[in-house]
Amino acid sequence: MPHRVRCDSCGTENDLSAAVPGQAATCQNCGAAIQVPGAGPVPSNQAGPLGTVKAVAILNIVAGGLGLLWGLLMLIEAVAGATGMLPHERGDPPLALMVLICLVMLALAVAGGIFVLFAGVKLLQRKPGARKLAFAAGIVNCAGVIWACCAGVLTLPVGIFTLIVLSREDVKRLVE
Ligand SMILES: [Zn+2]
Repeated sequence: MPHRVRCDSCGTENDLSAAVPGQAATCQNCGAAIQVPGAGPVPSNQAGPLGTVKAVAILNIVAGGLGLLWGLLMLIEAVAGATGMLPHERGDPPLALMVLICLVMLALAVAGGIFVLFAGVKLLQRKPGARKLAFAAGIVNCAGVIWACCAGVLTLPVGIFTLIVLSREDVKRLVE
């Protein structure tokens, strides 16, 4: 069956019955490129897992930023505690202990946040070793719930999603 395709540049009707559907041909009159109709774009198998890997990477970058934000809150609370500005009621643990807890959570949040952020960036770039790094970041995100209640609750789903996606065979082939 003959394919008559009109050239967008000069308007010449070209007979493209011999051309391969879906590929580019040239206009017989002006030489401009013409898309041969017939086949749509070939669906790529890589598009699925690649999109998911990118989503995981971005989620880890966000979770890392969240960890750093949580660290900043802990810093403010530690400073408030040390300067006597933290509300302290009878029956609360000693103020020095509360400041110490804040400082430990600050260190964990900053270290965890930087690590998760770094792993997310490496995964986005699909650097060699990024899968192992992001897997560790997934565990850090899950563990965040133990150290830092508020940010941890938000990073737990990211951690679980990261571990599930990185265990997929098609993702393993995509990222080292
Ligand atoms: Zn033409």
